Amino acid sequence: MSEFASNLSLAENYLKRFRENTTTHFINGQWSGAESMETFDNYTPVDNSSIGQVARGTAADIDSACQAAKEAFPAWSNMPGAERKKILHHFADLIVTRAEEIALVESMDCGQPLRFMRQAAVRGAANFRFFADKAPEARNGQALYQPEHSNLTIRTPIGPVGVITPWNTPFMLSTWKIAPALAAGCTVVHKPAEFSPLTAAILAEVSREAGLPDGVWNMVNGFGEVVGKRLTEHPDIKAIAFVGESQTGAHIMSQGAATLKRTHFELGGKNPVIVFDDADFDRALDAVVFMIYSLNGQRCTSSSRLLIQAGIRDRFIAALEQRVKNLKVGHPLDPATEVGPLIHTSHCEKVMSYMDIARQDGARTAVGGNRYQDDNVSANGNYVQPTLFTDANNDMRIAREEIFGPVLTAISFDSEEQAIQIANDSPYGLAAYAWTSDQGRALRLAHHIETGMLWINSENNRNLPSPFGGIKMSGIGRDGGDYSFDFYMETKNVCMAHGTHKVPQLGKTS
Ligand code: NAD
Repeated sequence: MSEFASNLSLAENYLKRFRENTTTHFINGQWSGAESMETFDNYTPVDNSSIGQVARGTAADIDSACQAAKEAFPAWSNMPGAERKKILHHFADLIVTRAEEIALVESMDCGQPLRFMRQAAVRGAANFRFFADKAPEARNGQALYQPEHSNLTIRTPIGPVGVITPWNTPFMLSTWKIAPALAAGCTVVHKPAEFSPLTAAILAEVSREAGLPDGVWNMVNGFGEVVGKRLTEHPDIKAIAFVGESQTGAHIMSQGAATLKRTHFELGGKNPVIVFDDADFDRALDAVVFMIYSLNGQRCTSSSRLLIQAGIRDRFIAALEQRVKNLKVGHPLDPATEVGPLIHTSHCEKVMSYMDIARQDGARTAVGGNRYQDDNVSANGNYVQPTLFTDANNDMRIAREEIFGPVLTAISFDSEEQAIQIANDSPYGLAAYAWTSDQGRALRLAHHIETGMLWINSENNRNLPSPFGGIKMSGIGRDGGDYSFDFYMETKNVCMAHGTHKVPQLGKTS
């Protein structure tokens, strides 16, 4: 049997239970359907057939989950960090034992090629281990000295929190948010994306097996406008960690205003990769291709704008065209596949609409520009050709709007100043990449590019203690290391007098 056939058969085994049983909510340690009893179809992007029913949550379901999270909070937050650490490490172990299942189910659910999803469990487990190790120290604060007072800061978990995640890499992103929340001592209500709900159910199963007390982790399925909205409005939820579109972030901010919700937003991007004449040509080319066409271009940190310096432009674009033409589009479980189907028909239509917009705006379609159709994929799937637009300028919509597909827009520049100006001429500021052999220039870019994260001579490389997040319309707040605890915890200052200072005396003279 070929590896592809074996993957298909294994995936079918894992999907069987989702096909045969409704994927329900997980509230207070129990699996439960929607209060309304309603469900919705979950479609695979491979051919848009249904791979099962999912509970269509209501506001009442969210209320039950928030109640459970509220009741579980005192015991979980007061549990010694060392005990939480043990549970969270056990959690990571269990994720690893289910790595194959997570990868196959995730690939079929969201269309991301298996070659990338094989890392989902490994990275999810790493998120749990990293924050598990930090749990015992999470409450530690600072000692701040004054001549006649000593201050110490104490951190306490903020309370039950809501976590709302998107569909592009659902498993990894859920663990990235939930692991630090649990390590900090918060309880969680998770609302996974309606387009890709399956691995969230696996995570909830793992939470039970790992020994998380009932109510510490709750998961409610359903649509953003209903369950997501209620979660962001709920008075018992103290903070919302959200990953998704910028527009949704704006909605969440207003929905949470009445309860003064603390929010953390990881939003969209239109990230530049700047390749200078003095760059290592081959390494830059590899990275440019990888950072837009991996994960189907459905990646927040994808470098969707190539800024290429005039001196190497023609040679670089020619080499790039060849590489983009060579990309293997196919079924996500085929080990040869580099680009799979897009998540949903509606998203596929959105991506395809930019093919016309690019033509109307005067860009050259150097590669792609159409739906992908061939014998190796279902005609009903959401496949598009990897696409490269050249001769573009930064005013075109393909340079300004997040397309979130395997579509790259190339823009030429002459000088460093011009590159910085074009890079910064964007409503977004999540990530940027620069390729140059000039170290002084690299540092100048670091100071002048408006971005939350800059990689020099590298594709996206994650370091869990480093801050992750964006500026402008790309987000608010940072994740990673202690930055995550700052979000999930309150800092209290305790000021103690040494007994030497003069206390103001009022009302002493008659
Ligand atoms: P989306 O904003 O449409 O949905 C994300 C989640 O929000 C879903 O669970 C959805 O149900 C929920 N939601 C929708 N409306 C809501 C509302 N009114 N109230 C509360 N919740 C609501 O995003 P998407 O299409 O699922 O994901 C793609 C987007 O995510 C892209 O813009 C991408 O750049 C972004 N993203 C950002 C990062 C990052 O780290 N910056 C990482 C991954 C994805």
